[in-house]
Amino acid sequence: MNDSLKDLYRDVIVDHNRAPRNFRKIPDADRCVEGFNPLCGDKLTVYLKLDGETLSDVSFEGSGCAISVASASLMTERLKGKTRAEAEQLFDTMHDLLTRADAPADAEDLGKLAALSGVREFPSRVKCASLCWHTLKGALQGDGAKPISTE
Ligand code: ZN
Repeated sequence: MNDSLKDLYRDVIVDHNRAPRNFRKIPDADRCVEGFNPLCGDKLTVYLKLDGETLSDVSFEGSGCAISVASASLMTERLKGKTRAEAEQLFDTMHDLLTRADAPADAEDLGKLAALSGVREFPSRVKCASLCWHTLKGALQGDGAKPISTE
């Protein structure tokens, strides 16, 4: 990881953990899915409000380590207003980014999300960063508000 990415990683994680974006419940959410990472104890609930194919609102709640919270914060910030197809595509991109050493981390369109590639240096934290994304995937594919497990 180059120095600028290292700085970005540290700054983004600190910032989004201290002040998580969209950290709230959506009372009339169309989807609400809970994700749990037993390796670390991270527990997050992702809420989706759908307007047709558009994610009109995305939020999360829960407790976890700085990386899991920052990742969820970045995710919700990024997904609001996107379509389901775009969200699925972003899941694939992020999955590669977090798990494949050769995935490009400087892709322009990733913005701050590129910082999350920093967890590749800490393999035990990959599941922290990917928890919210797997939870999102479950929420996109589920067809009700009933919480389901991602494990
Ligand atoms: Zn964690």
